[in-house]
Amino acid sequence: MRAFECQICGECCYGEGGIFVSDDEIKRIADFTGHTPGEFVSASCEKRNGRIYIRTGDDGFCLYYSREKSCLIHPVKPDRCSLWPFFPAIVADQDNWELAKEACPGINPNCPFEEFVRQAGK
Ligand code: SF4
Ligand code: SF4
Repeated sequence: MRAFECQICGECCYGEGGIFVSDDEIKRIADFTGHTPGEFVSASCEKRNGRIYIRTGDDGFCLYYSREKSCLIHPVKPDRCSLWPFFPAIVADQDNWELAKEACPGINPNCPFEEFVRQAGK
């Protein structure tokens, strides 16, 4: 039984929180999109609390989310995006997993938490 299978609904790409990006992530996304890191940051990011985040667009979705194509930078997307929903805070706490299930239809509601944790460690 798979604990998670993305339904490509886009919910996790929506929200003002944004996705923070490290220097390495900035470089690889910039390379992928054919820009310098500086161009990528000034065109697509904002700085908050000392961190750099990919901005959201007027529709509230990440600038790199497309309704037709999903993530436009999928091969180089930030590690946080690749890791979801197997975040340490979710793997470590069943209550957080219950909340994550409400937010993400890709988390199999029929899969026990213990199995989710086991698959997170793969
Ligand atoms: S919310 Fe879950 S199912 Fe929807 S796109 Fe994100 S990971 Fe996939
Ligand atoms: S980088 Fe891609 S996966 Fe991550 S929030 Fe933006 S569109 Fe979604």
